[in-house]
Amino acid sequence: MNKLIIICFFTSFIAISQNQTDLSYYLSQDISYNKNIPTPESIIGHQVGEWHVTHDKLVQYMYALAEASDRITLEDRGKTFENRSLLLLTITSPKNHQNIDAIRKKHIDATNNDGVNTADMPIVVYQGFSIHGNEPSGSNSSLLLAYHLAAAEDDYINELLDNTVVLLDPCLNPDGLQRFAYWANTNKNINLNPDPNDREYSEVWPGGRTNHYWFDMNRDWLPVQLPESRARIESFHKWLPNILTDHHEMGTNTTFFFQPGIPSRTHPLTPKLNQELTKKVGNFHAEALNKIGSLYYSEESYDDFYYGKGSTFPDINGGIGILFEQASSRGHMQESENGVLTFPFTIRNQLTTALSTLKAATNMREAILSYQHDFYKNARQEASKQSTKAIVFGDEKDAAKTYHLAEILNRHNIKFHDIKQDFTANGKRFKKGYSYIIPKNQKNTRLINAMFEKRTTFQDSLFYDISAWTLPLAFNLDYAENVSTNNLGERIIDFQPKDGKVSKRSNYAYLLEWHEYYAPKLLNQLLKKGVRTKVALKPFSMNNKDYDYGTLLIPVQNQKLNGEDLYALLNKLAKENHVQIDGVHTGLTDGIDLGSRKFKTLEKPKIALLVGDGITSYDAGEIWHLFDTRFNITATKLDTKTINRADLNLYNTIVVPNMRSLNVSNTKKLKAWVENGGTLIGFRNTVKWLKEKEFIKLEFKKTNVLAKNISFDEKSDFNGAQVIGGAIFEAKQDRSHPINFGYKNDKIALFRNTTVFIKADSLSYNNPIQYTKNPLLSGYISKPNLDVLAETVPVQIKKLGKGKVVAFTDNTNFRAFWYGTNKLFLNAIFFRKEL
Ligand SMILES: [Zn+2]
Repeated sequence: MNKLIIICFFTSFIAISQNQTDLSYYLSQDISYNKNIPTPESIIGHQVGEWHVTHDKLVQYMYALAEASDRITLEDRGKTFENRSLLLLTITSPKNHQNIDAIRKKHIDATNNDGVNTADMPIVVYQGFSIHGNEPSGSNSSLLLAYHLAAAEDDYINELLDNTVVLLDPCLNPDGLQRFAYWANTNKNINLNPDPNDREYSEVWPGGRTNHYWFDMNRDWLPVQLPESRARIESFHKWLPNILTDHHEMGTNTTFFFQPGIPSRTHPLTPKLNQELTKKVGNFHAEALNKIGSLYYSEESYDDFYYGKGSTFPDINGGIGILFEQASSRGHMQESENGVLTFPFTIRNQLTTALSTLKAATNMREAILSYQHDFYKNARQEASKQSTKAIVFGDEKDAAKTYHLAEILNRHNIKFHDIKQDFTANGKRFKKGYSYIIPKNQKNTRLINAMFEKRTTFQDSLFYDISAWTLPLAFNLDYAENVSTNNLGERIIDFQPKDGKVSKRSNYAYLLEWHEYYAPKLLNQLLKKGVRTKVALKPFSMNNKDYDYGTLLIPVQNQKLNGEDLYALLNKLAKENHVQIDGVHTGLTDGIDLGSRKFKTLEKPKIALLVGDGITSYDAGEIWHLFDTRFNITATKLDTKTINRADLNLYNTIVVPNMRSLNVSNTKKLKAWVENGGTLIGFRNTVKWLKEKEFIKLEFKKTNVLAKNISFDEKSDFNGAQVIGGAIFEAKQDRSHPINFGYKNDKIALFRNTTVFIKADSLSYNNPIQYTKNPLLSGYISKPNLDVLAETVPVQIKKLGKGKVVAFTDNTNFRAFWYGTNKLFLNAIFFRKEL
């Protein structure tokens, strides 16, 4: 026991001497701290920065603080995929806490009404940390920030808490933080080793940046598809914070960055004053970092363009979003170009700028409050000029996708209505019950513009992220802008997906059209239960209804289930999947009869999804998420490390997300498997690999852009301008091809962020999807790239031996919100034999 204490003493002595970790390193000695408030160390068992805090300990500390302090209340807003709590601390003076509902109401009222005097109102600051889990200095600093705000005792803190409501989100990505803490802690040496080659500094795939399904959650603030974002966006709209900060880390050899970012890359819908105020706030960061001798920069990198990022999303909602980026120690202590970078140093910079944010907030309180007040006042004026205008969207064949787009609006407090009656606009038919209409004259009109606009001209040609995200295009829904508000029906308040049902019991057959988003989920459930199901390769009509390509046929006779049980199962599945199944009593149709050979029996997919080294984890995670959370499809995550010992004959479909390369023996093994009858579906750069390794014959088109009159200084901008960061393009579809089953229009909007251009096949029927002559719908692409892209093809499907190779140049499952192209991928899986 004594020996243990001695060892503990020595180890902590070494750690302290290497890490300089005690509270005085982080917090000013001039302030007295309330002894009744527990320090982080007293609860989590180590000084902040000595170890990487695990999420469970972070939660434990925040509960202890909330218990001890009358300045803090705490809410658990829900769970991550791995069942971790999504906490939010509300920190303000005890007096404000007593009136917190009234304060919130007044704050929101000021965004709803003209002429509100905001001079005596507290400012609302949302401080969020480590949305990328392996950028942990933020969350680790949140322990100190919360402690400081709870325990500090001086006039300044009292003034700050009287004038500020702090919404402290200590960890924006609990699953990622936990994953990284495990890595950094399990590889830590007692004698810290700063050698960047040490295992501590190179995480295993997929790393801790992302959430459970490997999503970059700092792209999901606008589409809100993930549970972490859903909880956070609810808090955001509940409070409409004036300032929102987003604490990140960047490369080890950098210093510290605070916004504003590159001025020319600010979204044009963001008011100029937003960036000016951001810059003024920046002066407070500079002053605080000067005091502790930390290097920093601003305005030279990052941007405020894509509203799906945490530091940009507030800018279209009357707030000011601020990005912080700290050079990462990516472990406990790492050598860098700026000397040895310790974890505590990174934490201290985050804490310092979190505190300078609060200082700026109290100093600039009145200016920032009136900025928000005026933002909404001006927005109301813009909106009133469009008081008779509305946007309509919908799809009478696909209620679920329509619902999911409306769900995004709902999460962002955007009002929408049913339509009064069926009508046609923009050449599209909108059907009551299957369409929603959004009046432009409402509070969040600017946010609506940011979601629905198409933009093809830009001030700059470089983007930190995607340059377009037009939501109705992402959902591949019919829509029309500038329709009349005369079409407005009842406002949708109680918001539910459509009911599904079986029209009537049959002893003959059931039919289900393939257009509905969840039809593949239902099919998968049928195939899992061994229900024989066929697909129609041609359209037909019966009982005054047209059945399109891809209609599913479930015969009643000769199934494992008897008629009664089959009917019960279909009823259950129709309800669960919100689809309409028709019972029919004859095989005679107008078109192919139900016994026709043009109905093909479908086979249960047995899927392996390649993951691991060499594979882009985002792309793999999107597919895993799609299968697991949307379609209840079980796929084996086959690691590239274990292909060599896996029996591939267990699978009829192997999906290869974006991949750089694969070793020779695994390549051979995969090829033999395809030749033997497997279907390989590859995305993005995998297409290049498939061509190179002769899985598929393709011809690529290339741009040939020569640098003329481009100086050395302009080199990176010149090259950057040839990148397609993410834009939306139009393609025509051959609806008779099974890859396109379930699409009712002959044009589709496709997301693209690669420069893989496949030349169209000389046989036109081999080009089921082809970019149009002028394909740009929204977003940035250079002229040379656009010229080359025109009339190329985004997918090619070719035989290899008895098997098939499906090559997609781009991601059909982008960031979980590109609902519109999921079906292309699912068609490749379920109709693989018919392609
Ligand atoms: Zn980050």
